[in-house]
Amino acid sequence: MAALESLGVPVNPGMRVCNDADELLAAYRAIGAGRAKLAYEIDGVVYKVDRLDLQHRLGFVSRSPRWAIAHKFPAERAETVLAGIDIQVGRTGALTPVARLEPVFVGGVTVTNATLHNADYIAGVGADGDPIRDGKDLRIGDTVVIQRAGDVIPQLVDVVLEKRPEGARKFVFPTTCPRCGAHVTREIEPGEVAIVARCTGGLNCPAQVVERLKHFASRRALDIEGLGDKQIEEFFEIGIVKEPADIFRLADHRAMISEREGYGEKSVTNLLAAIEARRTPEFSRFLFGLGIRDIGETTAGVLARYFETWEAFEAACLAAVKARAGEAYRKLVRVNGVGPGARDALIAAAPSLKADGDLLGGAPTVKGVNTRAWQGLAEAFGDWPVVIAAIGDAAKQQPQEAFFALVNIDGVGPVAAERLCDFFEEEHNRAALARLLKEVTPQAERKVATSSPVAGMTVVFTGTLEKMSRDEAKARATMLGAKVSGSVSRKTDLLVAGPGAGSKLKDAETHGVKVIDEDAWLALIGDA
Ligand SMILES: [Zn+2]
Repeated sequence: MAALESLGVPVNPGMRVCNDADELLAAYRAIGAGRAKLAYEIDGVVYKVDRLDLQHRLGFVSRSPRWAIAHKFPAERAETVLAGIDIQVGRTGALTPVARLEPVFVGGVTVTNATLHNADYIAGVGADGDPIRDGKDLRIGDTVVIQRAGDVIPQLVDVVLEKRPEGARKFVFPTTCPRCGAHVTREIEPGEVAIVARCTGGLNCPAQVVERLKHFASRRALDIEGLGDKQIEEFFEIGIVKEPADIFRLADHRAMISEREGYGEKSVTNLLAAIEARRTPEFSRFLFGLGIRDIGETTAGVLARYFETWEAFEAACLAAVKARAGEAYRKLVRVNGVGPGARDALIAAAPSLKADGDLLGGAPTVKGVNTRAWQGLAEAFGDWPVVIAAIGDAAKQQPQEAFFALVNIDGVGPVAAERLCDFFEEEHNRAALARLLKEVTPQAERKVATSSPVAGMTVVFTGTLEKMSRDEAKARATMLGAKVSGSVSRKTDLLVAGPGAGSKLKDAETHGVKVIDEDAWLALIGDA
């Protein structure tokens, strides 16, 4: 920056070098104090690590650098009236209440709505069960405090109880989907912290179908220019786009689209060209675009790099579906108080557990299974003979290797693996995907680096690393084109073992996997 300045390039005079957190905060306060005098709007400052080697070490998470972070100034607030609460149905069927507000100018824009997250949020209860807004609930007609900072979505932060009118109405959360009428479930789901209200209509729910189509065409997925939310809604409404594959057949409806209001000959030509340009999408964007629950951009990227081709990925998912746990096993895993340790102990003990004999109402004794786990089992299943039969069934329905092959990919894990299985298990999903794959061909993922000495290798890290954190080591290995796995199998090429390495070291011996220490790893990748 100094060099640029010396060349006469305009450089922001507010920029400065700070050496510790106190200096950062002092700079933040000073810039905040002078904010009103600036000729432009700012909403905060950005701290950046200014050593290039450290920037390189810190790297990126998805598209965000880990060597830069924004520190926003306190958000602007304003009061307005909560005129109503609408329910939005998302692409996974989640019902989200949205506050309809009397327009209010705050943080540089006019705000007319704000998310209310869920029913608990409206009732004044946070995701962790603790009160929010001092436990004050929201009623239609209430005067509320809105906060907005920078490009962050507006938040409703408080209710002014003194201004609550006589007729303020409590909101009744719907028990059926406002769009399709299907029953709404309300439960805590794997990977969620709060209760999610969800429409059970699936592909029969027009809201879910439209939201999935919007997601597929959106900027971070297939990025089809000219095919925004408005167009998708319109094409769905008139019945020419019902599933992603239909987007690639829009040319068949060219004449009909051209006659519609707002579509000139030129704009239709441009739209169809933009669609044609997406027939070979990147693997990770294509997978993200399918909108499978819990498969976000990061996980989609991990899977694309790991499998490289769509065919390999799909084959692995179909194998995992066959190898996934049966319902009896999944039910056991969900029992309150049964953690992974108790689960494994129960499965191991299953053959010797007997329902007859003299249980006399007391729980059987199994090492590693405590009273709380037995209580949970009794609550979930009932009498001891039923509990024991359930454990026996679970033992017969354990997940097999092909399922773990998916779970153990670093960055995937059990929730995402189950979601992939859920998706590929459904016949209509596979059929819709097959129709889509007739229209588009996801590109094989380009390897990050093909010339590095570890490119293409499957690497596992274990034990304590001393020169870098485990996450850093994994990120670096991935950048060099290696695949990082969480467990050792015969497909592992290399185990990097630090002090304290345990079972993985034994597994490596069993499978004849090469083991090296951290220094040897650094020397191998040229970072020593
Ligand atoms: Zn619905």
